[in-house]
This record gives sequence, C-alpha cells and structure tokens, in this order.
Amino acid sequence: MYLSKHMHYYIYAFIGAGIIAVGIIIFLIFRLTSIKKTKTKNKTKPNLSLKDQTDKLSFIFNSIDEGLILIDSNGVINLFNPAAEKITGWEAKDAIGIDIKMVVKVVDNKGEEYLANSNPFVQIFKLKQNIKDNNASLITKTNSTIYVSLSISLADLNKSSESAVVLIRNVTEERMEEERLVDFISTASHEMRTPVAAIEGYLALALNSKVSSIDDKVRDYLEKAHMATQHLGQLFQDLLTSAKAEDGRLTNHPKVIEIGTFLKQLAEELKFAAEKKGLKMEFIVGTDQLAKVNLTKEKNIMPFYYVYADPDRLREVITNLFDNSVKFTSEGSITIGLTADTNVVQFYVKDSGVGIPAEDIPHLFQKFYRVDNSATRTVGGTGLGLFICKKIIELYNGRIWVESRVDKGSTFYINLPRITQQQAQSMTSDVNPDTITDLTKNPLT
Ligand code: ADP
Repeated sequence: MYLSKHMHYYIYAFIGAGIIAVGIIIFLIFRLTSIKKTKTKNKTKPNLSLKDQTDKLSFIFNSIDEGLILIDSNGVINLFNPAAEKITGWEAKDAIGIDIKMVVKVVDNKGEEYLANSNPFVQIFKLKQNIKDNNASLITKTNSTIYVSLSISLADLNKSSESAVVLIRNVTEERMEEERLVDFISTASHEMRTPVAAIEGYLALALNSKVSSIDDKVRDYLEKAHMATQHLGQLFQDLLTSAKAEDGRLTNHPKVIEIGTFLKQLAEELKFAAEKKGLKMEFIVGTDQLAKVNLTKEKNIMPFYYVYADPDRLREVITNLFDNSVKFTSEGSITIGLTADTNVVQFYVKDSGVGIPAEDIPHLFQKFYRVDNSATRTVGGTGLGLFICKKIIELYNGRIWVESRVDKGSTFYINLPRITQQQAQSMTSDVNPDTITDLTKNPLT
C-alpha cells in the first residue's frame, strides 16, 4: 500500500516531466521553423536598393563573355555590351541607334547574307517565337567571317512596343577544332582503306579453292579474318562518308527522280537479301492494301511522285535502312512504302523485328550510337549508318525519323519536298539529258 502510494507519486512525476519535455520539444521545433523561415525569407528577398540592383546588372552586362544586344521591334539597337563590341568589331557608340542587320551581318552556310524576310532579327518579331541557331556565321566589321551561336528572345520590357534580347557567342575556336578532327578522320580513313582493301583481296584469294588449297581449320581462320577485314573496310568507308557529310564535301549530283519507279526497282533488287533470311518483302504505294504493288507483275498504275535528289545517295539511304531491317528482324516481313500529299513525298522502310526502346530513339541518328541489346551485340555494325542517312536527307531539305515498339518492329520514315510534274519537266529540260531519269514513261504500267 505504502509502496503503491509512492508509486503514484512517481507516475505523476513521470507524466509531468513527460508533458514538460514534449512542451520543450514543440517549442524548439516552432523556434527552429520560424528561424528557418526568416532565413529563407532573407535569402529570397535580399534587401537591395535600386542602385545596388542596377550596379549588379551593369556588372553582369559589362563582364559576361557573350555579346548581349537589346533591339526594338524595328531592329534598332538600344544596348550593346563590350563582348558584342569584341565579337562584331563595332563600338557601342556607333552601333547604338542603327539597324542590327547592319551591325550583326548573319550569313548562311554559303556565306551569303539572309534576305530581309529570312533574317532572324526580322523573323523573331514576325514569328513571335524565340530563335536559337548554333550553326550561324557572321561577318565582322573588318570583313572576317566568324562562327557564332545565336539566341534571340522576345522581351516584354515595355507593354506598348516589343523588344528582343540577342545573345551571341563566338564559337569559332570550337568549330575549327571540330573541322580539324573531321579532317583528320577523313584523311586517316581514306589512307587506311587502301591497305585494308589489299588485305581483304589477298584473303579472298587464299580462300579461293581454285587458287590455293587449304585445310578446313585454316579456312575457318581465314574466313573469320576475311569477315573482320570486311567490317574494318566498311568502318573506314562509313567514317570517310560521315566526315565528308559533316564538312559538306559529300558528292552530290541531284536530279529529278520519279520516286515510285526508283523505289520499285530498288525493292526488286533488295528482296533477295530479305528472302534469303526467310522474310517476306513488300512494296506498298499509298496508305491502303489496294495500292500494294506486286513486285513481279507490273500491272498497277500509280501517280508520278517527283523529288529532286541524287539517286546514288537515296539508294544509299534506303539500302542502309533496309539492311538494318534485315539485320534486326528474325521473322515476318519488310515493307518499303510510298505515299505523298501535294507538297511532300513520304517513303518508309518497315519491319517486324526487335524494335527500338523509346529511350534510345532520340539518340539513334547520332554518330556511333548503337542500342545496347542482345541483337546489336551479335549483329555487326558501326553505328554510323543512320547518322549518314540523316545527313543525306538533310541535303535535300528532308526529314528522317523512326517510330518503333520493342518486339513489334520499327518504321523509318523519310519526307522529301515533292516537285510537280511541270517543275520536273522544266528542270529536266535545263540539265544534261544523260543525267536525267526518264520522265516520259508512266512508271508502273
Ligand atoms: P549499325 O547498324 O551499323 O549499328 P546504324 O546507325 O545504321 O548503325 O544503326 C544504329 C543502331 O540503331 C543499330 O545498332 C540498332 O541498335 C538500331 N537500329 C537501326 N535500325 C534498326 C531496326 N530496323 N530495328 C532495330 N534496331 C535498329
């Protein structure tokens, strides 16, 4: 009884102490949160006077490495920082108050100045969209051409009239470095192709039973060496082509092509490689099955679809897409298709193969990119094919892209500008008749 009475005291004391402790903890938490809040408040809202702010902005404006120019909606320069002076060769006092097109003379890749309408400083106010161009060039006051990356953003500084902020970065050094690298790759791959071709030739001779007699073990070794040499030769060839594509030296002899005839012939040639692997091969014109063209019976009639491109280059693109389809499809079919509207001709290579994971699709057209899966680990390749395809299609102002689902298959699409029959005929009458595709025959009758 006595003990239990004391026990009560202990319990009361214990509960009391507990309440006090909880109170202290709540108080401390409250204090800490309010201290934190005050700190955050102080952090986000620095107590700067207007002069401090102006000083800071002016410090940034004067010290950044990028040229910073403010123009009004007529293109007249209002602000011009020291970096802009350094890049363009113009002094701020001369540049301010005049049209930016006279100061920042942006030129296209042929070194020609943009026409008024296509000039980015005019376009920004017409399109009302920010413009970014990482491959721009401009002519400085002393008439030298430099490479720049250009970013033009609309600025709503004054409700009554629009302005734009122009940011220019001189990327000449980086670009020259890239060009040197491309040059090196181009020379090296060109030089290395010759000995590789010789090795491949001698290995082929050694494997030829009419020329040399070898036992099975040696044949097996030589066959492997021959395949590896062929792969190396293809790698050098692709490296050379991609280096040329990058510095604009890709040989290109565009002419008018009736793409229906062109694709049908190519599909005829390619179908053997597909059939050898047990794959069905189709050529489809239009969007429905009725428009399917039988590859052997030439009875169907289809419209003329003209494009202006180098047939050898287009052949390279389609063959590469087709080879990939064969490589990455173990069963099912490969379809080459063609469709068009008034302005665009669209053709595609579709397969029922392994497909491409969504996360790889944005990188697929980059140099050396290969999807890391069991298919690519067993199938040879350089990862340069799609990069080259993209460069070629861009030569003709076209677009290439892929739609794909893993284990369902992939479709690589190409859009090219369509030219009318009249344009095709007038273009072909202007050029050497030896180099034109016959336009007088209805292609698939
Ligand atoms: P390569 O075929 O020499 O590896 P490409 O640039 O032509 O190089 O292709 C890059 C990668 O894109 C391939 O390695 C493969 O992972 C993927 N790819 C291309 N075409 C297909 C296709 N039809 N189906 C599945 N994956 C493909």
